[in-house]
Amino acid sequence: MGYGISAPEFNYDDYKDKNGNDIDIKGKILVVMRYSPGENDPHNNSFEKYEPSRYKTLAARDGEAAGIIFITGPQSGEDVLQKMRYDNVMQNAGLPVISCKREIIENIFRDNGLDLSKIQSDINETKTSNSFVLNNARAYIETDVEPVDAKTNNVIGFIEGSDPVLKNEVIVIGAHKDHLGYGLYGSLAKGNDKQIHNGADDNASGTAGLLEIAQKISANKKKFSRSVLFIAFGAEEAGLLGSAYFVKSKLFENYNIAAMLNMDMIGRLNDNKLIIYGTGTSSVWNNSLDKINSSYNFNITKNPEGFGPSDHSSFYTKNIPVLHFFSGTHADYHSPSDDIEKINLDGEVKIVDMVYDIAKDLDNMKSKPDFIKVVSQGNENRSMGNVKVYVGTIPDYSYQGEGMKITGAKEGSPADKGGMISEDIIIKFGNKDVKNIYDYMYAMGEFKPGEEAEVVVLRKNEKVTLKIVLGSR
Ligand SMILES: [Zn+2]
Repeated sequence: MGYGISAPEFNYDDYKDKNGNDIDIKGKILVVMRYSPGENDPHNNSFEKYEPSRYKTLAARDGEAAGIIFITGPQSGEDVLQKMRYDNVMQNAGLPVISCKREIIENIFRDNGLDLSKIQSDINETKTSNSFVLNNARAYIETDVEPVDAKTNNVIGFIEGSDPVLKNEVIVIGAHKDHLGYGLYGSLAKGNDKQIHNGADDNASGTAGLLEIAQKISANKKKFSRSVLFIAFGAEEAGLLGSAYFVKSKLFENYNIAAMLNMDMIGRLNDNKLIIYGTGTSSVWNNSLDKINSSYNFNITKNPEGFGPSDHSSFYTKNIPVLHFFSGTHADYHSPSDDIEKINLDGEVKIVDMVYDIAKDLDNMKSKPDFIKVVSQGNENRSMGNVKVYVGTIPDYSYQGEGMKITGAKEGSPADKGGMISEDIIIKFGNKDVKNIYDYMYAMGEFKPGEEAEVVVLRKNEKVTLKIVLGSR
């Protein structure tokens, strides 16, 4: 099956034979090469977006293939097995997928009078597919995916407020305490050797800030009328799992939370530039921030959005005003080189002092801050390849069932306008079944901004069909 790619824009389709006839893959096991016919041109590989095995898997599943055997083609270098590993998504691919030494496949081809190396170089040179059915071969695949559950925790501290009434309102101050260990999924480290990711900025900086503020509030207890809850979240890097767990817990229901302040990566203050997310989630934030910043003089970039790639997002989905403090990304992000030597200690102290002052200012307010749903500015979540259309869904990474569950739709986004709501589980997008977030992203990629997509969601176990007019970003 060549590279397992259908790329209509390049008139290239591995699901056809070399004469352009469809190949019926139903019930068959596909032998698919890694990468793409564009791989020899690393600087201008127009096929790049089709290379991920998640994409190839979706295409095979659509045609009801029985399974996939991935090999590294003879023209693609050493005969190495593709790593199959956890990629932040808890759902399986929907069909068995294995990685196999090409030597085994080459032998089978040879027995059928075929030269795998020649077939690959022809495809690469002519950019024409050359797929066929191997009648003289059988394969039997058995895969056993065993999820390994690991336990982690949120660490919580509580200081009761001094006012008999206001103490029932709670200010949450949070920072995630986990990082990537020896890499996990999400490491940007190059090379194969196992290196510890200390995460000095991400997020020892926020965790240290949390402890400092807890210490300071504890020493000034009587000055705080409201109660303060300190949470060091676990499993943020795996998809905000710790904070998602917390906002679904009984504990959460028992607190009347006034606002949430989050610190994630506050150790690399550069040029005095501080980024603050969530400034649109309450009408009090702008004044409060400007007032307090007059004694710090940070060069602040305000981002009104309450959704974002850290734990404040979980609280925002529960209609709680949030602020998230961030000193900006850098070359050591998610790498073993994110170490203490590179921390701007004075800068971090300044940021932590400011977060404390904001907590104090919040506590001085007579009533708790109002909550505002922020009208979305566009901008789909990060790093999912070349998707240009915009829907505005917020995935729930803690969901383990089939489909893609959302924690919400951004206010005013195409998803919101089309009627998608929190806890919907997307099971079909256009004509594609959606079993996980990757399916969803690829299905979305087949549309253009302005087009209408029919989307099927499960809402309280009932199928609901929605029409979403896609936006652009
Ligand atoms: Zn982080």
